[in-house]
Amino acid sequence: MPPSLRREAERVVERLRRAGHEALFAGGCVRDLLLGRDPGDYDVATSARASEVEALFSRTVGVGAQFGVIKVLGEVGDTEVATFRSDGPYVDHRHPSEVSFCDAEGDALRRDFTINGMFLDPETDEIIDFVGGRRDLAAGIVRAIGDPDARFDEDRLRLLRGVRFAARFGFEIEDATWRSIVAHAETICDIAWERIGDEIVKILGDGAARRGFELLSDSRLLDAVLPEIAAMRGVEQSPEHHPEGDVFVHTLLCLEKLEPWHDAALRLAVLLHDVAKPLTAERREDGRITFHGHCEQGEELARGICRRLRQSNETTDEVCWLVRHHLRHRDARQMRVATLKRFLGEPWIESLLELVRIDVSSGSGDLDTWRFCVERRAALSEEDVRPDPLLRGRDLIELGYAPGPGFKDLLDAALDAQLEGAFHDTDSARRWILEHHPPDRGPAA
Ligand code: ATP
Ligand code: MG
Repeated sequence: MPPSLRREAERVVERLRRAGHEALFAGGCVRDLLLGRDPGDYDVATSARASEVEALFSRTVGVGAQFGVIKVLGEVGDTEVATFRSDGPYVDHRHPSEVSFCDAEGDALRRDFTINGMFLDPETDEIIDFVGGRRDLAAGIVRAIGDPDARFDEDRLRLLRGVRFAARFGFEIEDATWRSIVAHAETICDIAWERIGDEIVKILGDGAARRGFELLSDSRLLDAVLPEIAAMRGVEQSPEHHPEGDVFVHTLLCLEKLEPWHDAALRLAVLLHDVAKPLTAERREDGRITFHGHCEQGEELARGICRRLRQSNETTDEVCWLVRHHLRHRDARQMRVATLKRFLGEPWIESLLELVRIDVSSGSGDLDTWRFCVERRAALSEEDVRPDPLLRGRDLIELGYAPGPGFKDLLDAALDAQLEGAFHDTDSARRWILEHHPPDRGPAA
């Protein structure tokens, strides 16, 4: 049998037990196995202390040694091993002030939702369930363990996690848990924005982003975390372009089309492409509704939101570019050859064309221009759209042009001509520039 993540986690359990400790699979992996899903990672909970775990395995990394969490490194992946613990009082809505080591039952009670609170004995396949997780999993219910108000008070991140699990699995949120989420929604920003940003990107990537954002909206978590998206609710659009409804409805339809392979930048761009529509909406005298400047203003808003959600500079730049250019394809058929090639040679064009497909198919549905771009892109090689320039600055100097800020325009014009097919080697490029943009023969400075 080839080594697998599961096999490696089983070996970790075996070795802990041979040394006389209790050890069980715990949390999300148990839930996923019961659902017939492949767990992305395996967590082991044990009675052994961190130092005992470290002594048993040759390759370990302490990830939270004070909480008793040790990563055991394997061939295929790592197994996180954590000592059974219960959390002491939370002082700041995110960190327990202390932890104390306990038994499996105590460890179950510190976890967030019943479906995440079970253990599995990998040797016997027995489920150890102190919190009614099995029943809730079968019924499709997300329920806080214990008193929901107290649990959300301890750690606000659980508000977003509850929404994420309900969306991902298509589960309902149990009544008292839901009421508590709604009651706590405004306080979500008490925790670090890194954690909020991570959860939002996960909700966008979990295969159920639409449901996730509906729940965020219904609970008003959206108003606290992303008020710019909440502001889309009720912003009307012209029915001839957007028969589907208002800007928020359109955005939800777009989110529904996200695929697991879409990266964080594309997910965020799909969420944010119309973020400036609420600010730019104007109803004209003939009744039509316009959103002039929403791409440019959207870029600015998107930058602020990506910063708030603590996205990397690379992701932020890509999201901003995608938002800025999400309507540029509309002119594709009228573009000069050079302009079209430059457009199709843009570094993030693949993601832009995905965004366009999602945007258009959630609105008018007229994919003609999108198809034109995709076909042209496929017909052109990398070299066609991003060739090495045949004319460079040193050619201009040799030809007698005075170096200066005008060089960029000259080189741009030459690259356009090259993309249009005006010349195919450096000699003819030089002749072309001399003929079309002769050097300024004015008095030397
Ligand atoms: P995913 O599939 O997204 O990894 P998961 O349930 O495995 O979901 P993790 O963040 O990997 O989530 O956490 C593993 C387990 O740790 C959870 O199943 C839960 O039991 C517990 N846990 C994680 N975060 C919290 C939290 N904020 N509060 C309480 N328990 C938590
Ligand atoms: Mg996990």
